[in-house]
Amino acid sequence: MAEVVRCSRCRRRLRRDTGWNVTMSGGRPAGYLCPRCQTPDEHAEAEINEATTDYGVDRHGRLIGFPKAVNP
Ligand SMILES: [Zn+2]
Repeated sequence: MAEVVRCSRCRRRLRRDTGWNVTMSGGRPAGYLCPRCQTPDEHAEAEINEATTDYGVDRHGRLIGFPKAVNP
């Protein structure tokens, strides 16, 4: 049974990854925030994270984030 991803605040179900934030803890996804629940600060932080983190969806439909590979 596939795990359903929900917003950590409003419990809305994740349907598309567009605009969603993944909250990271210790390098692992700790929660998810839908676009409606993100504060401006969180959105700005997400922009920064987007520049340094790659996101994908695993085969269970969950969002995953990992550091972008940097080639010196
Ligand atoms: Zn929400």
